Amino acid sequence: MSVIKFVKSVKEGSIDVVKNAEKAVLESKKINSEYNYFNAFDETALAQAMIVDKKVRKGIAGKLAGVIISVKDCICVKGVESTAGSAVLKGYRPLFDAAAVEKCRAEDAIIIGKTAQDEFGFGGFNVNIGNGFKIPLNPLDKSRSCGGSSGGAAGITQKASFPHLAIAESTGGSIVNPAAFCGVVGLCPTYGRVSRYGLIDYANSLDKIGTMAKSCADAGLLLSVISGHDEKDSTSSNNKLQYFEFKNSVKGMKIGIVKEAFGEGVDSRIVDRVSDAIRKFEDKGAETVSVSLPTTFKYGIPTYYILAMCEASTNLAKYCGMRYGAHSELKGMFNQYFSAVRTKNFGAEAKRRILLGTFARMAGYRDAYYIKAAQARTRIIEEYKQAFKQCDVLAAPTMPILPPTFEEISKLTPLQNYMADILTVGPNLAGLPHLSLPCGKINDFSAGLQLIGNHFEELELLEVGNAYEQK
Ligand code: GLN
Repeated sequence: MSVIKFVKSVKEGSIDVVKNAEKAVLESKKINSEYNYFNAFDETALAQAMIVDKKVRKGIAGKLAGVIISVKDCICVKGVESTAGSAVLKGYRPLFDAAAVEKCRAEDAIIIGKTAQDEFGFGGFNVNIGNGFKIPLNPLDKSRSCGGSSGGAAGITQKASFPHLAIAESTGGSIVNPAAFCGVVGLCPTYGRVSRYGLIDYANSLDKIGTMAKSCADAGLLLSVISGHDEKDSTSSNNKLQYFEFKNSVKGMKIGIVKEAFGEGVDSRIVDRVSDAIRKFEDKGAETVSVSLPTTFKYGIPTYYILAMCEASTNLAKYCGMRYGAHSELKGMFNQYFSAVRTKNFGAEAKRRILLGTFARMAGYRDAYYIKAAQARTRIIEEYKQAFKQCDVLAAPTMPILPPTFEEISKLTPLQNYMADILTVGPNLAGLPHLSLPCGKINDFSAGLQLIGNHFEELELLEVGNAYEQK
């Protein structure tokens, strides 16, 4: 059942919120014991449901009455261990809710737990987990990756038989990538559309909180709740996504086909399915044009990784064993002390990013790397802005490959890992909204169709995605 229909039934009194929550908690724990989608459960879920139930009976329940919501581990939930998947934050229970979580509660959602991710978001296959965490397994084939970094969010979104929505987060593709690998809808909004207050930062100029669901309509519903200005995040926009009824039509719309995204290195079966989807839009009355993004494809990966690592290395400096998070016996000079805490509690990829990011920011190298990358980013933004003069929405595959096996991933070099993001770093660098939806089966999996919109044009993306879903 769709979430929209579920809320309607709850309000009409035909679904019992408490019973539904009980069932959802049991099922989630069972799934988790096999697939590792949760880093922590919110043990107050049933108590939350009882409060919502009272409001339902009084006829004052909100837009998400009784809806079960999972929250990526890097987004703070009051009283529930929130670690961003890192041992360095083990035991940290925030005293507050992130703004996005608070907005869901205000609409009577039920928070069920914290979903698995790459440590701090550092990865695309959810195998770069923190020390002591478990790798989530693909819901369609356990020997394969869920995608990352929001792997747990996508896995539970696919696997849950109860109506469920996920709050996820993307820095360079972490929402659409796992959505594509797990066959669900992932919606990453415009930078600033959702407050980042309460988000454990990866790279502040790139981080976006977004949503996952089984349909575009449900993903849009959750975004409409969590978007909008928040005085605690000065980069959050006043531009709240207003929800509306779909027109169910793409007639007269111009869809730009990203030429480079169908080329070498992209699995030909994915190219075929995405091309079929585009033909479907043409059949429904949309016009298509070919669009080229040469700068984005040539410089996107190095630009993204330099900026993301520079910001990440700065953000991780605060985990020094003195303020919060992991600490140990006070021994030696401060440098020795904090090195010992960090050596023990950061995983290999986090250490790599601290080293590379710190190097790229050093006096003498800054102009060659960080400043250059910032300039390249501006060029990439300009390139997209030009593209949107020719079309309303861009279309491309989301991921160039199907979910790889863990065995295949173990053989990849760090650079090969980073290259898997070739199709998703562009919209993330430019802060553009983008959406992935399943578009045609390949064995047990689906190809992901990626739709990219101009800033604050999420509704257009949802409209196109929804039109595709209507057979
Ligand atoms: N795979 C990319 C990275 O490792 C993106 C991850 C993300 O969006 N958090 O940085």
